[in-house]
Amino acid sequence: MKPFIDAGEIWGYLNTTPATKERVREVIAKSLDKNRLTLEETAVLINATDPELIEEIKQGARRLKEKVYGQRIVLFAPLYVGNLCTNNCAYCGFKASNKVLKRVTLGEEDLVAQVKALEDTGQKRLILVFGEHPKYDAKFIADSVRTVYSVKSGPGEIRRVNINAAPMDIDDFRIIKDSKIGTYQIFQETYHEDTYAKVHMGGQKRNYEWRLTALDRAQEAGIDDVGIGALFGLYDWRFEVMGLVRHTNHFEAVYNVGPHTISFPRIQYASQLNIDQTHMVSDAEFTRLVAILRLAVPYTGLILTARESASIRDEIMQFGVSQIDGGTNIELGGYSKKKDNEDQDIDLEQFQINDNRTLNEIMDELISKKYIPSFCTACYRLGRTGEHFMEFSVPGFIKRYCQPNALMTLVEYLEDYAPAETKTKGYQLVQEKLDQIEDATFRKTLVEKIEELKNGKRDLYF
Ligand code: SAM
Ligand code: SF4
Repeated sequence: MKPFIDAGEIWGYLNTTPATKERVREVIAKSLDKNRLTLEETAVLINATDPELIEEIKQGARRLKEKVYGQRIVLFAPLYVGNLCTNNCAYCGFKASNKVLKRVTLGEEDLVAQVKALEDTGQKRLILVFGEHPKYDAKFIADSVRTVYSVKSGPGEIRRVNINAAPMDIDDFRIIKDSKIGTYQIFQETYHEDTYAKVHMGGQKRNYEWRLTALDRAQEAGIDDVGIGALFGLYDWRFEVMGLVRHTNHFEAVYNVGPHTISFPRIQYASQLNIDQTHMVSDAEFTRLVAILRLAVPYTGLILTARESASIRDEIMQFGVSQIDGGTNIELGGYSKKKDNEDQDIDLEQFQINDNRTLNEIMDELISKKYIPSFCTACYRLGRTGEHFMEFSVPGFIKRYCQPNALMTLVEYLEDYAPAETKTKGYQLVQEKLDQIEDATFRKTLVEKIEELKNGKRDLYF
């Protein structure tokens, strides 16, 4: 395969694309018209440094989110399965050279205990995370996924298991596909090859191209639901945004469907962190880059994790984030320990997280702010892949499927897990949203389904 990331090309765009007021407005309008942006157009937004234009970009992203996705926010939780690792990534607490890190791999019993604890808070969607180690081969990962799906606690069940794991060959991707994973997620970390070589100091991960082409092999194996990402802080954020857009374009050109999600973790404090601070991304730049990504790839889900503080998450969510984690605990075995998340043991974890709220605290806040928290897994269960694209391009899809399904998963949560106060607030929101449905026949069908849920039925969706 021809390498699709060309640093010269990306810098060419960044160095020569002017960001006049007219051009910036044209590009925002193109995006609001539901068109993905080209690399040149993305560079226009990146090069806009006038505060007034930056504000227009942020407002554009906010409008696009409201227009396309409405007020839904999908919730999930990460579950770390094992922190053995043969690589030496400068930024990561799991790096092989870190001798103070306590190495743990969850056995089946431990894994089941974590899943039960997660289900007991109301979680329905997990992402399993693994270090890169011969022990975590495709079979091990597939077995972990199957175990997670098999665990039921009361009304609780996990309905979608995504994974974040090292790149594999096509045969191994087939093995994990058979376990019915949702999304396969892998971050390139940096699209800049020289920086990549500097920060990946040992192990298989040193191979830039093997990682860059991982999702093409996944595609070949039939895994068409994939997530990409860059670790912000390793290299110039403007270059990484262009890299993410180029990766997306590559996917669309070759497979006719873009990645399902884009993640944009910022480097956080970690055990034995060893990187230079030159490219650290400020909060203002971070907000800008999320708004630019929203406009550049209008129908790709954007994930913002608990690496960021509650206040930053609240601020940035409005610019187009579609998924957040809640009740996050990244200590190996941490969910079943029921200890206060405040005191993270950094020598047992990959990095510092900054949003320690419980799932219910987050649910409660989202409801208060009129977001609709969603645990919906309908598209995945019904084989409707490319759901973000459908949300975007099929008229009425959100009204007919996404919003009602989000409300039904919210009702399940309110019935099974919410304390009284959240329950009252939650049902007020559900009622408000029901009142806004114009089609009376459809509203009646949805009200009936919600009644069924209240009477104990579960897992209903359109
Ligand atoms: N071992 C797998 C791999 O390298 O692809 C799993 C990755 S790791 C468990 C998940 C992601 O966390 C990494 O891809 C990286 O982007 C991110 N990460 C690593 N160290 C981090 C840090 N100090 N702060 C924030 N994110 C970090
Ligand atoms: Fe290992 Fe992944 Fe951490 Fe690198 S980022 S040290 S591969 S767990």
